[in-house]
Amino acid sequence: MRFDIVTIFPEFFSGPFEHGIIRRAKDAGIVGVGVHDLRSWTSDRHHVVDDRPFGGGAGMVLKPEPLVAAVESLRLPPERGRAVVVLTTPQGRLFDQREAERLASFDQVVLLCGRYEGVDERVVTAVVDEELSIGDVVLSGGELAACVVVDAVVRLLPGSLGCEHSASEDSFSGHGGLLDCPHYTRPAEFRGIAVPDVLLGGNHAEIATWRRRQALARTWQRRPDLLEGVDLGEDDKRFLEELKATAK
Ligand code: SAM
Repeated sequence: MRFDIVTIFPEFFSGPFEHGIIRRAKDAGIVGVGVHDLRSWTSDRHHVVDDRPFGGGAGMVLKPEPLVAAVESLRLPPERGRAVVVLTTPQGRLFDQREAERLASFDQVVLLCGRYEGVDERVVTAVVDEELSIGDVVLSGGELAACVVVDAVVRLLPGSLGCEHSASEDSFSGHGGLLDCPHYTRPAEFRGIAVPDVLLGGNHAEIATWRRRQALARTWQRRPDLLEGVDLGEDDKRFLEELKATAK
């Protein structure tokens, strides 16, 4: 799989992709990440990528010609793989774990990073397949959003996490879609707070039950909306009923 990121600040990406899982996945050939300067698709002497908005008002707008030319030169032809062109925008569909899983199934994701007031709407009409937002918050540019998308997708690619971790145990995926359970490591006691006994006992069945119940309790307390989509067993339902009764 590969990502192609189009930005007016290519240097922004020199740090985030040079560490940890993304770096390892790149080195292992699991993912390729190309960062492209939007200015390379300008033809004027000053490499202008933005202009004032028609109709007046504050701020600048990214011009359509360089962005469309960038997509047309970067996007893989259908015979070379499944590609999707994504515009980062606060107005897009919320990028969540399900979206990350979906994007991980493409051969190429082209990510367009907006700046200023955003991009000329004709870019969306001409070449954008999807608009994604990383949350109901306005960032100064799409670069951080692109980093979030790349990070979340790369860790789902087979082989990227190594054997020490599995994405299928994380929040939203593990325990059938619940939040993750709490984790502890050594020391067994820290500032008078002890690790739960069950985790020290070595009984794997009891540990699995404890983890499942912790995941259920956390999800109910913090994100009850997620429980809607989870396949709950009889034990789960009983446990949640008890939890609700004790909370009253
Ligand atoms: N005028 C735009 C609006 O109100 O919808 C906001 C533009 S924002 C200042 C500049 C760029 O940052 C956007 O074009 C987009 O690429 C990026 N951006 C800002 N917030 C984002 C978010 N929540 N998710 C994804 N991208 C975002």
